[in-house]
Amino acid sequence: MGVGPNICRTSTFTFSSTEEMKLWAEGKSKAYIYTRYGNPTLAIAEGKIAALEGAEAAVVTASGMAAISSALLGALKQGDEVISTAQTYGGTFRLMRDEFPNWGIVVRRAETSLEGIESLVSSKTKVLYVETPTNPTLRLVDLNKAIAFAKKHSLISIIDNTFATPLLQKPIEIGFDMVVHSATKYMGGHSDIIAGAAAGSKRWMDRVRHMIIDLGGSMDPEAAFLLIRGMKTMGLRVERQCDNAQTVAEFLEKHPKVAAVHYPGLKSHPDHALAKRQMKGFGSMLAFDLKGGLPAARRFCDSVQLFLLAASLGGVESLVVLPIYSSHYNMSAEELANCGVTPGTVRVSVGLEDADDLIADLKQALA
Ligand code: PLP
Repeated sequence: MGVGPNICRTSTFTFSSTEEMKLWAEGKSKAYIYTRYGNPTLAIAEGKIAALEGAEAAVVTASGMAAISSALLGALKQGDEVISTAQTYGGTFRLMRDEFPNWGIVVRRAETSLEGIESLVSSKTKVLYVETPTNPTLRLVDLNKAIAFAKKHSLISIIDNTFATPLLQKPIEIGFDMVVHSATKYMGGHSDIIAGAAAGSKRWMDRVRHMIIDLGGSMDPEAAFLLIRGMKTMGLRVERQCDNAQTVAEFLEKHPKVAAVHYPGLKSHPDHALAKRQMKGFGSMLAFDLKGGLPAARRFCDSVQLFLLAASLGGVESLVVLPIYSSHYNMSAEELANCGVTPGTVRVSVGLEDADDLIADLKQALA
């Protein structure tokens, strides 16, 4: 038996008789039939993600958005309402803003602090959706408060745990029904796959799997192999990335050209105390604003040499990006303000490089 998992690179599986197939069709056999329905390599990745999240089950998907859309659509139907924190990944925001109205699903936006959230509840509210820390300004949602609210109103609770990873927070243990991930990010960890995952109870994961089967957002076995390989080093990577991010954030905070740094590991961050309470580390995403606004931010991003100018995050390489030109494109000034994004906000994903090299690059780019 190999130490590494086999890649079961097949779209379909043979049966030895029509009787075996009949049993599958009647739900009496768990045999694999077709990779969109399930595949042994995918099952290995699912077992690992369920274990990491402390969940009964998990489903891997073609992308983070496939996991998010399948979890939400698995929980909602026409006429239902969802309460979502206003600050989410731009793709999630656009899904809810541009597509949900076509399907008769109403979205109500809550403050990340959850202040005033009671006023958003109606008899049609079905789901509470949160993301913490948020993309890109790293605000935190109080997980205990969110769960108390969801339980009080019998809502299905879903959380995007991409930025934290299950290593820094385990929302299922606190009571969330479903966790979703862009596994493209820290789980994969090498910027070489597009992948997603959902985790939760077996009942909810059966529902998500049905959505994946029906909507087609299933993962490819090659991506599952790379995801499994990536997860083997996630603990080491995230630990080093958190250390590097703290160093980068502290350097930026002292720099005369920087107006504000958004990193939960800084004492100046409004959610620092909450981050200490509910996270095991502060993560390796941060954002900052330059005093010179957008022109200065563009010059900075055009000047980095070790940091790469690229969308996405969570990989071994350090990346910088302007959210208005990437994750938060196609959003109005008001929508951006609600997400805490200014035109000059620079988002940074801190990687595994030597911290001194990272600081040297920041210094020269800021100069
Ligand atoms: N959730 C968060 C927090 C993200 O940052 C992203 C992508 O940037 C997604 C979800 C979507 O994931 P994917 O690009 O894998 O579909």
